[in-house]
Amino acid sequence: MEDCIFCKIGKGQISSDIIYEDDKVVAFNDVNPQAPIHFLVIPKEHIESANNINNNNCHLISHIYIVIARLAKELEIAEDGYRIVNNCGEFGGQTVPHIHFHVLADRKFSWPPG
Ligand code: AMP
Repeated sequence: MEDCIFCKIGKGQISSDIIYEDDKVVAFNDVNPQAPIHFLVIPKEHIESANNINNNNCHLISHIYIVIARLAKELEIAEDGYRIVNNCGEFGGQTVPHIHFHVLADRKFSWPPG
């Protein structure tokens, strides 16, 4: 999508602190980190939110989880654990309408979320 900030990051049109990239996804550090480790994983293809996952694009979502597992091992957070967050829509707290998975780590998180 033309004016989508995360599409632009996926295409390299906006600079970001990229920690992983392949032909399908990009992972980059969040500009406003909520934990010592806080990065986002996005598909390069524009998918607005979890509401738009379907049989044609679900392989991108499973790939994102494979990438998260790989990065968790590389960043040595797999053993302690971490939180994956996908906000959906207004009530879910989604502010960027391009699906993204937050990975937060290196501190303990409480439940339930606020
Ligand atoms: P959400 O509120 O779930 O939609 O999360 C959007 C996240 O994107 C927030 O944590 C922002 O800090 C982050 N964010 C927005 N713009 C950028 C950017 N250009 N580079 C890195 N993170 C960003």
